[in-house]
Amino acid sequence: MAIHEPGSAAEPVGLFRINTGSCNGCDVELAVTSAVAEFDVEQLGCRYTESAHEADIVLVTGPLTVRAREEVLRLHAATPRDKVTVAVGVCPVSGGVFRDSYAVDGPLERHLPVDVNVPGCPPRPQALLEGIREALEIRRARREGSEPTRLPGDRKQPGKPGTDNFPARGRLSFDAAACVDCRMCRHVCAAGAIRFEERDESVRLTLWHNSCVFCGLCSHYCPTGALSVTGDWRLDHRATDAFRQIERGEVPYAPCAGCGEPIIPAAPQLLHAAFRRPNPEIEKLKNLCPTCRQRMSIGVPRR
Ligand code: SF4
Ligand code: SF4
Repeated sequence: MAIHEPGSAAEPVGLFRINTGSCNGCDVELAVTSAVAEFDVEQLGCRYTESAHEADIVLVTGPLTVRAREEVLRLHAATPRDKVTVAVGVCPVSGGVFRDSYAVDGPLERHLPVDVNVPGCPPRPQALLEGIREALEIRRARREGSEPTRLPGDRKQPGKPGTDNFPARGRLSFDAAACVDCRMCRHVCAAGAIRFEERDESVRLTLWHNSCVFCGLCSHYCPTGALSVTGDWRLDHRATDAFRQIERGEVPYAPCAGCGEPIIPAAPQLLHAAFRRPNPEIEKLKNLCPTCRQRMSIGVPRR
């Protein structure tokens, strides 16, 4: 098989896996990168090794269970000093849905230096190869004593055309204009990936890609379609960029048309979902606070 730049050294780059207690979902995806030709790590000049001493890149899966911790740290310490460590899947990156478990002692970076994150649950094979490309670049720079260069954001995965069209879950997208601040999304998110922050002029929603497991529940239960699951799997990044991996939007307050109190008006998407064809009377209600709406609807006097 052709050897592609950047891992084009005569001696293949050694990839060494450590499972810290994963469900094996990420490990199955890693297996794809050795068993399926179009995703084979040989394209990047790499090969898997079972010897910790041959590890140039260490791929870590799982949320780091308490039970596995000491063995994981011992194995990682046995790999060469200049290896590059990649956290594979959302579990080692942030803990994912296991983050609060008594049996887990993650995230991984609390215990050892992590260079590259490839979040996802699990990440697609294309994302894994992109993460390994990042690791190869860091390895090259480390050996040459230089700064790793930024790989182009739109770099294409080697493989047959059309693989990007495969329907799969990926990065969540947020449309603040459709949000009504009901917070159902946060309620159903087992990964704790969604936060709300009340600001002077708006409510801010932040979604952490490094915590999201692509379950799609927030999108399913969002009454207005403000959150949607995309097929964008390009989530690999350097660990130093971890806190920039967010989706964020501001939902602005507007004064209640009745009393002037700041409210989040009902988005047209909500009215259409609730009434299909809202009439002008219903349209008037959307800019009222609950108290004024009640007063206008059933004539309850304002206290
Ligand atoms: S994104 Fe959807 S579910 Fe979340 S607060 Fe906004 S409208 Fe509600
Ligand atoms: S898809 Fe939505 S509900 Fe599921 S983990 Fe991601 S943010 Fe949370």
